[in-house]
Amino acid sequence: MYKDIRPQLLNELSEIEKAGTTKSETEITSAQGSHVIIDGASFLNFCSNNYLGLSNHPEIIAAVKVSLDEHGYGLSSVRFICGTQDLHLELESQLTKFLSQEATILFPSCFDANGGIFEVLMKEEDAIISDELNHASIIDGIRLSKAKRYRYKNRDMADLEAQLIESQSARRRLIVTDGVFSMDGYLAPLPEICALAAKYNALVMVDDSHAVGFMGATGAGTPEHFGVSDQVDIISGTLGKALGGASGGYISARQEIVDILRQKARPYLFSNSVPPSVVSGSLKALELVSSSDELRTALHSNAKLFRELMQAAGFTLLPGEHPIVPVMFSTESEAVGVAQNLHAQGIHAVAFSYPVVPLGKARIRIQLSALHSQEDIRECVRAFSQSVS
Ligand SMILES: *Cc1c(COP(=O)(O)O)cnc(C)c1O
Repeated sequence: MYKDIRPQLLNELSEIEKAGTTKSETEITSAQGSHVIIDGASFLNFCSNNYLGLSNHPEIIAAVKVSLDEHGYGLSSVRFICGTQDLHLELESQLTKFLSQEATILFPSCFDANGGIFEVLMKEEDAIISDELNHASIIDGIRLSKAKRYRYKNRDMADLEAQLIESQSARRRLIVTDGVFSMDGYLAPLPEICALAAKYNALVMVDDSHAVGFMGATGAGTPEHFGVSDQVDIISGTLGKALGGASGGYISARQEIVDILRQKARPYLFSNSVPPSVVSGSLKALELVSSSDELRTALHSNAKLFRELMQAAGFTLLPGEHPIVPVMFSTESEAVGVAQNLHAQGIHAVAFSYPVVPLGKARIRIQLSALHSQEDIRECVRAFSQSVS
């Protein structure tokens, strides 16, 4: 009876409120971009995953409009009944080429890709060895599998090796890591991970959601960045960040792995096809990303400029080369206060504190986009300086 349950839920909600961890949502009334409209006012946006500025790109929107006319709005079917169009096959083939893998399978989201793969590939007699800071979807996907679970400390290769030694009796072993850890902007040490995988005969899986499209010389992500594309067996990723930012996910991997996922992965078999318009938009995004370095270059020079100016202004940043730039504060309340002051100056950025990040590691996470102008970045740095003084 709901009347009995309601007080319990209200109690739970007030516990969240008391802990100060209630998530609120900012209502944006414009398209996604470097500037967004909030409460009728223009804000400079530094917290989206619109790394390459493709979320509202005119060529993508034009391609989607054509697709709506030619391929319709929805498919009302999963892929294996009557939900596979020429477009889906084309996107899978383009992603395979782009990522230098053997085959690709689309999922409704990367959350679903990660939710579907472990149960299929890793059985009771197998072992999954996972970085402790891996994305929630990897954690949930691993929970759905009957394989033995091993966890290693974030990017800690000695601990990974210890877990590999520990798990030596398993039939199959899979090391899984995020390509980029999104709270820190740190990259997974893929060369070392691949070397350990070779030494201990394990598979390597990388979730490259925060890298695909803009890390690596051609945007193929962290495996390309580190020159280990041929040693990574499985890549999962999203179409919902740099590659247009709509939705959809994929697994690009060895042929047989993709073949078996098509037969057995539950989020693939039992959830609707990615809408044709989104597939067309993603195809155009891939074409834009493959045909020119321009957006990647703009993104990385923006990240570099922001890091340099912030350091010169005396702020503490986590080091790195990724367009995720965490600006660190000594207390939780300082981070929250600075984010509020930024907001008052027309800068949209989000403070993260415990338990999302470790206690004492409060931060404002700035995400650069290829769309930001140098003046946008200077304005953001000025606003930071005024927010602390
Ligand atoms: C964003 C993200 C996902 C989820 O992607 P969706 O396509 O939005 O479900 C999964 N893994 C990582 C590492 C991510 O950053």
